[in-house]
Amino acid sequence: MDIPRLNANLEPGLYIVATPIGNLSDLSPRASAILAGVALIACEDSRVTAKLLQHIGVKRPMMPYHDHNADRVRPGLIERMRSEAIALVSDAGTPLISDPGYKLVRDARAAGVTVTTIPGPCAAIAALTLAGLPSDRFLFMGFLPPKQKARADTIAEVAAVRATLIFYESGPRLAATLGALAEGLGDREAGVAREISKRFEECLTDSLSALAARYAEAPPKGEIVIVVAPPGEAPAPNADDADAALAEALTRLPPAKAAGEIARKFGLDRKELYARAMAMKDGD
Ligand code: SAM
Repeated sequence: MDIPRLNANLEPGLYIVATPIGNLSDLSPRASAILAGVALIACEDSRVTAKLLQHIGVKRPMMPYHDHNADRVRPGLIERMRSEAIALVSDAGTPLISDPGYKLVRDARAAGVTVTTIPGPCAAIAALTLAGLPSDRFLFMGFLPPKQKARADTIAEVAAVRATLIFYESGPRLAATLGALAEGLGDREAGVAREISKRFEECLTDSLSALAARYAEAPPKGEIVIVVAPPGEAPAPNADDADAALAEALTRLPPAKAAGEIARKFGLDRKELYARAMAMKDGD
């Protein structure tokens, strides 16, 4: 194989290179230059990365780096980075984001190796820009656990988080996951972004339950990101509910303590509740 000479301008170290999530034209000129210049590309699947290299007319040596061999090959890779430029790519998108790489970066930094990132496509961020949901605060959740109990527990952990939630998912599991999200989070607004940057890109938005029903009928093909709106504002306390709670508290507590308990519970004014408690005691 005729391999071009290593680009003498590239300093030794680790280069984290984001690659397209569908549309090959999304590979940045800087990412192309780095891939052309490194001594070695650590990749998930060399067949996938070979297609990308072919697209930019480059041939470079590749080494698989994935969940099954990472622990074994990592020390050798770090050693080579001391004197050579080595890139890390994943099959698509940004390495480390639901993809291998975090331990490679951690160990490279610990070894004093220079780490450079070449930012680019990421399905989570692309979906967030499509869904039209609040983008000021978001929490990336990656893939939910496949088993029902673990999935429900994970959803419950984030139910109170006041941020837009982002999940990766596959077509066959989409409807079940949307149903579990509706159950665990309440029926919030959501977006399902599919095949981003590809020919059949779409992003449907609706309530979680409506999206679950839609995709239960016809499980979609392709790659998917679910984006879920933050919880709504807590509903204003209902006066009848507060009255009922106060009446109940008065069966156990003196008026001042009952008013204090209900004020804390409903976020209401303690003095007003005390006056109401006294009126109740007087038979109002
Ligand atoms: N590192 C990648 C990134 O930066 O987005 C994510 C890798 S993760 C193994 C793959 C998942 O990302 C897919 O199962 C899907 O949920 C999402 N994904 C990747 N490409 C996508 C696309 N073009 N459209 C929608 N979702 C995509």
